Amino acid sequence: MKNIAILGCTGSIGTQTLDIVRRNPDKFSVKAITAHTDMISLKKIAEEFKPEIIGITDESSASSFSVNFNCKIVVGIYALKECASYQNVDTVVCAVVGIAGLDGVVSAIKSKKRVALANKESLVCAGEYITNLAKEYNVEILPVDSEHCAIHQCLKSGAHGEIKRILLTASGGPFFGRTRNELEGITAAQALAHPTWTMGAKITIDSATLMNKGFEIIEAVHLFGVLAEQIQVVVHRESIIHSMVEYIDNSVIAQMSVPDMRACAQYAITYPERCDSVINELDLFEISRLTFAKPDTKTFALLPCAVDCITRGGALPAVLNAANEVAVSEFLHGRIGFYDITRVVCEVVEEMNFAQHSHTLSDILNCDKEARRITGLKLGH
Ligand code: NDP
Ligand code: MG
Repeated sequence: MKNIAILGCTGSIGTQTLDIVRRNPDKFSVKAITAHTDMISLKKIAEEFKPEIIGITDESSASSFSVNFNCKIVVGIYALKECASYQNVDTVVCAVVGIAGLDGVVSAIKSKKRVALANKESLVCAGEYITNLAKEYNVEILPVDSEHCAIHQCLKSGAHGEIKRILLTASGGPFFGRTRNELEGITAAQALAHPTWTMGAKITIDSATLMNKGFEIIEAVHLFGVLAEQIQVVVHRESIIHSMVEYIDNSVIAQMSVPDMRACAQYAITYPERCDSVINELDLFEISRLTFAKPDTKTFALLPCAVDCITRGGALPAVLNAANEVAVSEFLHGRIGFYDITRVVCEVVEEMNFAQHSHTLSDILNCDKEARRITGLKLGH
């Protein structure tokens, strides 16, 4: 029996992880959950899974929350920390969105829990710190992101020194093939309609700008100890191959399945074992063909911008993330246009290039703050 904490249980990854637990009550038990603002969903989840501890990160939302069974409720800044380090938990699914999830990831590692990591922003901002901490505490980080879950599986075929390239697949998002001019007038509703995956709003926009793929390059650098130049993004519209590893003998190992994040969350929780899955079998005859294309790095400028940030290093990836978090939120609120996200994020990265010389966690958090301030100013706040 695995005892699980789900940080961000009301979100897309959170609820899909709960579905795995729901279908395997003999294998998994939910001991701790957190939510931010969605108290209606949190109450339903709590009453179904009866955790021992519940964390509510947004204090102003917590007043409307109550449950009719015995459990500990933690409200505010310690909610993630207490749930991630809760004694009866062995595996922490980090499914909070944004750098707000960093605290939970760090607490899980320091409490020596298995970390199933969906919260990519924490790795983007503080990848070196997190991976060093995981080494120090002898903790395994299992990626939930589908590409990294695939790479983790493909890496079983060879030694680290035998890796030539990582072929990181991308669905291309809803605007594959569009020109920059065509992107200017895109609305939030259009950007929220992803062709193959149903995800939270923020990552759906990141997928549409290809910021998400840029983040995934940074994640891969930290998780797998490769250079950004060893990673090639391959647009693969069908989302059947979730990524590939090419070895020095030019052999390419790919991982395939129907696109369903529950497969990735389950792999991360049960590794090194595999168990029966809730996802459908792959029907290659029905799919019949798979296609591949190069990404358009001129139109989707956040992709090369991310490569530049991780290559120059330091706190630049944190600047990239902070500017993007602010810009995406503004876009979702209808206050800026779709292409303004790309424009302002690239500008802030350029302006804060001194951040490449900042390395400690407190430097990173300061650069995050400063990047948010500058982005806000540029967007007229
Ligand atoms: P959602 O927006 O669907 O869910 C986010 C979760 O985080 C919710 O439970 C939300 O609580 C909580 N949350 C939001 N803000 C805060 C905050 N400031 N502090 C604490 N908790 C907060 O996101 P997704 O599930 O789509 O994504 C979660 C993470 O997983 C992201 O980092 C994303 O990049 C990554 N990921 C997601 C994939 C997907 O398919 N969705 C695929 C690969 C990676 P509430 O709802 O109560 O406000
Ligand atoms: Mg992904």
